[in-house]
Amino acid sequence: MAKEYDLVILGAGTGGYVAAVHAAKRGLSTAVVEARDIGGTCLHRGCIPSKSYLKSAEMYKTMQESLSYGIEADNVRLQFGRVREKKNQTVQQLHKGVQQLLAKHEVDVYYGHGRILGASIFSPTASTISVETETEGENIMLQPKQIMLATGSRPATVPGLDIDGEYILSSEELLEAETLPSSIIIVGGGVIGVEWASMLQDFGVEVQMIELGERLLPMMDHAVSKEAEKRLKRKGVRIYTNTELDPASLTKNKELAVRTLAGETLGAEKMLVAVGRTGNTGDLGLHNTEVEVQNSFIQTSGMYQTKESHMYAIGDVIGGMQLAHVASREGIIAVEHMLGNHPEPLDYKHVPSCVYSEPEMASVGWTEHEAKDAGLEIKTSTVPFQTIGKALVENDPEGFIKMIVDKDTEDVLGVHIVGRKATELINEGALAVYMNASYLEIQGAVHAHPTLAEIYAEGALAIDGKAIHY
Ligand code: FAD
Repeated sequence: MAKEYDLVILGAGTGGYVAAVHAAKRGLSTAVVEARDIGGTCLHRGCIPSKSYLKSAEMYKTMQESLSYGIEADNVRLQFGRVREKKNQTVQQLHKGVQQLLAKHEVDVYYGHGRILGASIFSPTASTISVETETEGENIMLQPKQIMLATGSRPATVPGLDIDGEYILSSEELLEAETLPSSIIIVGGGVIGVEWASMLQDFGVEVQMIELGERLLPMMDHAVSKEAEKRLKRKGVRIYTNTELDPASLTKNKELAVRTLAGETLGAEKMLVAVGRTGNTGDLGLHNTEVEVQNSFIQTSGMYQTKESHMYAIGDVIGGMQLAHVASREGIIAVEHMLGNHPEPLDYKHVPSCVYSEPEMASVGWTEHEAKDAGLEIKTSTVPFQTIGKALVENDPEGFIKMIVDKDTEDVLGVHIVGRKATELINEGALAVYMNASYLEIQGAVHAHPTLAEIYAEGALAIDGKAIHY
């Protein structure tokens, strides 16, 4: 006998579990089906463990430079086993927290692989879900009124550079590795590649980075990409842009070696392939449905409804901005839409994107090129952190804020930051862009001194050439 629910969510990553809690709070009887661990990629194989490593890398670097703060620290040594332990503890603690959250809100959790079996005999507009549990032959049947597909994504691969877990790794295997390699080739200069390059170089690994395009972080403003490349190079990362590897030349013998198409041979102990993520749409039973999939990503409306009106899809599995905060917001919007409400659609130009490398980088809204290509009349300002007292106190005065403002409306269209705490600072920019704030309002808002956020006031003043310290 199938258990009935208002909503069953396949996948309990950041998208799925947040949607489940929201749905339960809105009175829907809700269950999640999870094939691996509650919390998904972000908690177990993404945001949280990688940021824990980045924090340790930052500490290691800071302690090596401690004399510049007037502190002598002898014998600073990296104990990677403990770095790993700290990461695992943080993940475990948060994992427990999310499990408790679901229990508190009476969301039922089914562990196993979920599949849609097609229209139900009870109602042609509903579908049955089967959950293949770890117990052999045990399949649990669920009968939901609505379904949400939140099955996330997995690392994309490069033909001929297959993940073998030994020489060639994805971020998943690298996060699990018990020791650090002495050298690594990172394929892909996007967010994940840049974060790993920064962290590994700070841990003392020799890093070479290969990017097919002409610049790192192609979704960021050109000024940010340029600064990222400059700063990573200064750390010692060897960066090859406009470069493609020839997989046919790959050899693996204690170390790996591979040629670029231009004929240069590169060697390293390991290779990290970080070239984007593929949607988890295989083996979900979608052939039993009208749900449309393109290039592994489920197609939805702006309210995340698929071609089957009782099936929604959110998060990484629909592609677009594959970020945890995007997945959770999409889940909440989808639940509200199921309830018959008209939630505000998510404007992806309002979503901040962050790179937690050293230096940090963060961005929200339009880049200068996008705005110009769209024919918008804009004004821009760029103010360096050197002008901000707190950045000097923090011993980190490099980087800048760049503001993009609409010439006619005076609205802030975009904010791009490189430097200390950029990933925290960006939220003021996100609020400004979301609220259609004018740069004059940012000028008018008093910013506490000494804080890094004063750079917003200076950035806004600089639009009119009125910055005080620059
Ligand atoms: P997921 O978190 O992938 O969850 C999907 C879940 O569905 C998984 O738990 C999976 O086991 C389950 N599942 C799949 N198929 C089935 C099935 N058939 N039945 C049952 N369960 C199933 N984003 C940020 O915003 N900030 C960051 O700093 C950041 N850092 C990242 C670092 C790395 C190294 C990586 C890889 C990603 C990072 N991301 C970051 C991206 C972020 O992790 C994802 O955008 C986010 O996890 C997407 O959430 P989701 O719920 O859509 O999918």
